[in-house]
Amino acid sequence: MRIFKNKKQMQEWSKKLKKDAKTICLVPTMGYFHQGHISLMEKGRSLCDELVVSIFVNPAQFGPNEDFDSYPSDIDHDLKMAEQAGVTAVFLPCKEDIYPENFQTGIELKHLPGFLCGRCRPGHFAGVAVIVTKLFNIVMPDVAVFGKKDYQQLQIIKQMVKDLDFDIEIVAGEIIREKDGLAMSSRNTYLSDQQRKSALSLSKSLEIAKKMTEQGEKNPSVIHRRIQEFINSFPETSIDYISFCDPETLEDIEEIKQPVLLAMAVRVGTTRLIDNAVIHPGQ
Ligand code: AMP
Repeated sequence: MRIFKNKKQMQEWSKKLKKDAKTICLVPTMGYFHQGHISLMEKGRSLCDELVVSIFVNPAQFGPNEDFDSYPSDIDHDLKMAEQAGVTAVFLPCKEDIYPENFQTGIELKHLPGFLCGRCRPGHFAGVAVIVTKLFNIVMPDVAVFGKKDYQQLQIIKQMVKDLDFDIEIVAGEIIREKDGLAMSSRNTYLSDQQRKSALSLSKSLEIAKKMTEQGEKNPSVIHRRIQEFINSFPETSIDYISFCDPETLEDIEEIKQPVLLAMAVRVGTTRLIDNAVIHPGQ
């Protein structure tokens, strides 16, 4: 497995591969791997000749009071896991290489960042759009894999790829969960034992919502109230948002007539967790 620590080396290698008519799959990450990341690598491995994973904690997508400085990291462990997952190259750039002095370009999407996490994290998706564009230009992948865990991010990247004519296929990976249902996340490491129990309120409320819709409930407000009460009954929880929306446009829906995205962000202590599921109307 190759390790590239600067963008020039990475891009030179990718250019050479292109010349040899080899295809490249990219899995962008912020590291501190768990099985969710590995599932994306396993998905990507079969899609192209080479599998590149990037590890970069992108300062541009963190707000001033967020966890950029404390974001967990264990590069040695990540490299071992990546190698086992069949990764052929890891791109591990430093901040200065990605954002040299006088960096000033931004990418703005008009609608999609106005919903869900974009409302609570101003500037976050602008930061995501820039880093993903840069990774696309440096690694030059044919395919890139993103997780549905960050559903809004996935939609934004699909839109950006379409709008800006990137010749890259975007592949989505399912959410990987712990045995008890908690969506895997690098941030789960912040949780105390008590908070870990409260964190289960997210996946459990998705289950409650699924059950209610299967039983015929079509009014999102009724389900919203029920799961809001449920989440609030756990210690140290504070809801950022619970949204029933169109899975494509992310606009709020008023009746569950077709598949609907139920997405939520909840703070457990100081840790902000997200989860989502597409729920289907019952009979
Ligand atoms: P991150 O390192 O958190 O930026 O995530 C890198 C990629 O892994 C993103 O495309 C995420 O959506 C995806 N990811 C994170 N957690 C999970 C999970 N539990 N299951 C599947 N994919 C995930």
